[in-house]
Amino acid sequence: MGYIEPAPLKDRENPFEAMMSRFQIASQLLGLDDEVYNVLKNPAKQVIVSIPITMDDGSIRVFEGYRVIHSNILGPSKGGIRFDKRVNLDEVKALAAWMTWKCAVVDIPYGGAKGGVCCNPREMSRGEMERLVRAYTTSLHEIFGPDKDIPAPDMGTGPREMAWLMDEYSRSQGMTVNSVVTGKPLVLGGSLGRTEATGRGVMVSALAAMEKLKINPYRATCAVQGFGNVGSWAALLLAERGVKVVPISDISGAYYNEKGIDIKKAIEYRDNNNGILEGYTDAEYMDGDDILFMAVDVLVPAATEDVITASKADSIKARLIVEGANGPTSSKADKIIAEMGIMVAPDILANAGGVTVSYFEWVQNRLGYKWTEERVNRRSDRIMKDAFDKVYKVSVQYNVPMRIAAYIVAIDKVAKTYKYRGGF
Ligand code: GLU
Repeated sequence: MGYIEPAPLKDRENPFEAMMSRFQIASQLLGLDDEVYNVLKNPAKQVIVSIPITMDDGSIRVFEGYRVIHSNILGPSKGGIRFDKRVNLDEVKALAAWMTWKCAVVDIPYGGAKGGVCCNPREMSRGEMERLVRAYTTSLHEIFGPDKDIPAPDMGTGPREMAWLMDEYSRSQGMTVNSVVTGKPLVLGGSLGRTEATGRGVMVSALAAMEKLKINPYRATCAVQGFGNVGSWAALLLAERGVKVVPISDISGAYYNEKGIDIKKAIEYRDNNNGILEGYTDAEYMDGDDILFMAVDVLVPAATEDVITASKADSIKARLIVEGANGPTSSKADKIIAEMGIMVAPDILANAGGVTVSYFEWVQNRLGYKWTEERVNRRSDRIMKDAFDKVYKVSVQYNVPMRIAAYIVAIDKVAKTYKYRGGF
């Protein structure tokens, strides 16, 4: 089975450079002064830890872990922890900066951070994972804190890992501190609606964009690339609103059904098949990369960075791209996509539903109170819709694509706050 080949090397983009190139464009349009530009361009803190773990076979393996705090100008830094074999410092730096912009776009009182460990969770046992999460937490317990830096799940981590993190951090403090991390299981103070929050925000952004483009959801088709937490929830919620999701894909390939994939069935299949769609039969099998070039109205890249590269961009046929992943489009592809007249609901806007409900989780933990799912969804939908409208307005005002408009909204807010707070 043909796993997705990475794009040719010369076409690939370093995620930090990809972030910086948009940051530069937006800063120039905003007329940001050099001092603030220099403050925002550099992460506030970068920590690298080496984590020795005893593996199940008795051997000791040393993992490299990172936590990058890009900014704490708007408040305590916030951002997930990625466990993946491609994790490296440049990627974590870019993801941390994207968190700063994301929190600013949706107007929640957080700065941005990201963490990661270079490892392959698919090949690790439950015990090895637990030891790694606990050791990572111990190495960084002075960085984390409910008013300092608040981790959450990202690729390769989920509620189970957040529970271990919360427990290990609580041990270091001698008391239970559940607000130090979000994305926890419900019984440990997790929020209703958190698991589906990122996918739900993607759905809200997609519907808002479709309205602008006058695409009727009941007549629309959609392709979802990536079938992890974000992609599968986005697919399910879009399908519930009438959108026909025709192909879905993951690392094992793409699966096409012209009548629309039964998303519930596909999720069930994935959950009973070690987390992947390999062998899914209620659809036609296609090469994984082909999903990007399908003739659909909406394309949702919901896997990882640098998927829509410059060499692939001009073969895209969708009218709208809604970015569930962080950084799925390279900065060189931006220009091609804009010239083709394709609208993009960019990552720092479209996938901000996750961190928004993380914020609600943190608020509930601090209040010692639980909101209903209805309240969580209503409030996060409103935040997402308001953010979309604001970014759209700025894109019209500056005559720029939605991505640059989102950076303008974010940088403007962080820069203004920095000016008030001042520095040394
Ligand atoms: N990892 C998610 C993201 O990239 C969520 C972060 C959070 O909830 O803090 O947005």
